[in-house]
Amino acid sequence: MEYTSTNPYNGKLVAKHRGHTSDEINSLLALSQVAFKEWRKVSITERAKLMRRAGEELRENVEVYAEMITLEMGKPISESRSEIKKCASVCDYYADNTQDFLADEIISTEASKSFVKHEPIGTVLAVMPWNFPFWQVFRFAAPTLMAGNVGVLKHASNVLGCAKMIEEVFSNAGFPSGVFQNLIFDHEQTENVIKHEAIKAVTLTGSEGAGAAIAALAGKYLKKSLMELGGNNAFIVWKDANIDQAVEIAVKARMLNCGQSCIAAKRFILIDEIYEEFVSKFLSAVAKLKSGDTLDDATQIGPLARKDLADDLHEQVKKSIEAGAELLAGGNQNGCFYEPTVLGNVKPGMPAFDEETFGPLAAMIRAKDIDEAFELAENSKYGLGVTVCTTNIDLALEMSARVSDGAYFVNELVKSDPRLPFGGTKKSGYGRELAKDGMMEFINRKTIYVK
Ligand code: NDP
Repeated sequence: MEYTSTNPYNGKLVAKHRGHTSDEINSLLALSQVAFKEWRKVSITERAKLMRRAGEELRENVEVYAEMITLEMGKPISESRSEIKKCASVCDYYADNTQDFLADEIISTEASKSFVKHEPIGTVLAVMPWNFPFWQVFRFAAPTLMAGNVGVLKHASNVLGCAKMIEEVFSNAGFPSGVFQNLIFDHEQTENVIKHEAIKAVTLTGSEGAGAAIAALAGKYLKKSLMELGGNNAFIVWKDANIDQAVEIAVKARMLNCGQSCIAAKRFILIDEIYEEFVSKFLSAVAKLKSGDTLDDATQIGPLARKDLADDLHEQVKKSIEAGAELLAGGNQNGCFYEPTVLGNVKPGMPAFDEETFGPLAAMIRAKDIDEAFELAENSKYGLGVTVCTTNIDLALEMSARVSDGAYFVNELVKSDPRLPFGGTKKSGYGRELAKDGMMEFINRKTIYVK
């Protein structure tokens, strides 16, 4: 099978990639098994040297890698550069901390010695999305490889140029052959990959549908799975908030990556008293965002990564308006492009409230008081994260128990950071990435007991 990458900004062909045959996949998985036997014996110090080199490789070639991201999925080039630099930082983070994370954990019992030892499990399959085509992969690869596991990547079919470059980053850094490999296969081949004896666990970042399909296969073959799925984050603004600051954070939280982020703020829940002020300042800030050539440094808004994503968003906007939402800005589609759009008076029952919207659409929602704001925030099948803007930090911390999401940020957009665990609840998935938690997902915590 052949896969085509097309630049969503101008429709030009970026490259064609040939899929692997079943025989090729079996050979690559066999190679990963051989590689694992040696890689697990390599000292953490040596692994860390290679991981730091991977970080250097990314920093030295930031322009080359950033351009591939922008060409394949349409992200403005300045954001692509930031993504590459963040990948380098996660390489450094795990190079610096793995020794501590994997240290034996002494637990005193009646034994003369009892402790937990941390051992790698083998080959981990990563099924990854196109929206942060480097970051999502490095977020998986840095802890996984540092732990002594080996990785195989099945990347989204529209970013296979990025996948190829990521494989090159690891080989250029000196990682042994087979420690990190790309597999190119279609959905029908997935079951054969997951059931292969080499695969010990599967991690997926993507939609709820993809998560359910892959988690079902992992369950069928009793392989551990980790799921990072969609989100519909609430962004609550209290009447005591610094509104200018809240608006600045809100615009970033919604419009970064042209809104194509699982942790983007999607539902802006505003206490009645500040609704009008917040909305009017938000509209002025959105009107200033610069759309244009994705390779231009000044561009802030590009196209969506594929036309079907823009089509889906437009349907959600239209249906929300039919259900009573007010169109305050935008609402126009042109192929892959979708104008930054703001809907007012959004309520439960409208797609802009109930569904994940994966594009530049902000839904403004009224709440009469803090209690209602938290009820609205919690009224979602997703659970990735919530932002609260307020000057009352004590109350904000107390209210954190009212939401069941995986993250709660006060006066800041929900964002990922190598040092902090990242993951969701409910239909946003299960398991945690990043920090020590992320490394522990694919580790055998072996209990050792000496009488
Ligand atoms: P999909 O979920 O369809 O794709 C994500 C990845 O899963 C791709 O590599 C895709 O491959 C693969 N995939 C999907 N179904 C199967 C299958 N049956 N077998 C094997 N691989 C499969 O993503 P969309 O393109 O729809 O992307 C947007 C969605 O991803 C949004 O809903 C968003 O919330 C979610 N997402 C979640 C994130 C998180 O961190 N929680 C981060 C980013 C996005 P292929 O390209 O070949 O179809």
